[in-house]
Amino acid sequence: MKLKLDLHPIFSDSRKIEQGLNDIILEAVSKRASEVEIIPGKGSGALKKTVLRFLERPEIKPLYHRVEKDDENFGRIFVHFRFHPDQAGQGGAAPKSTVSVSCFCCQADIIHILNEELMAGEITSANAECRSCGSPNKIVIRSQRSGKLAATAESGYEADR
Ligand SMILES: [Zn+2]
Repeated sequence: MKLKLDLHPIFSDSRKIEQGLNDIILEAVSKRASEVEIIPGKGSGALKKTVLRFLERPEIKPLYHRVEKDDENFGRIFVHFRFHPDQAGQGGAAPKSTVSVSCFCCQADIIHILNEELMAGEITSANAECRSCGSPNKIVIRSQRSGKLAATAESGYEADR
């Protein structure tokens, strides 16, 4: 499966670009897509740099296999994914290691990578800074009986604890 994100309609809205990039990468991970094509638009070198910077982020980089740049044709960027064969055939469920929550402050998507496997019913929490508004979020992750992860974000400010 291949996915495509065209940034033309939202090129002037950096927040929508951020959301769009977050969404398409998460969708690719959850659907086990082999490739995401990102189209920043012809002549928009700055936007292309924004996309490449996004893909370099420490929480995004582990999610994909490699980036391929198409400099000849409209500056398209291809993000290639590779999933372990032993993860195949699980109904397209997202790997247990990735959760997405909405920032408690600005509702922007925050992607969190879980480095541990949770037992059913187990709860863990992690701290993450929102990329959009900078607020510290406390992400609470619960493993449901189905094996899927449910995550919520709370204020991570010290004063609120
Ligand atoms: Zn935020």
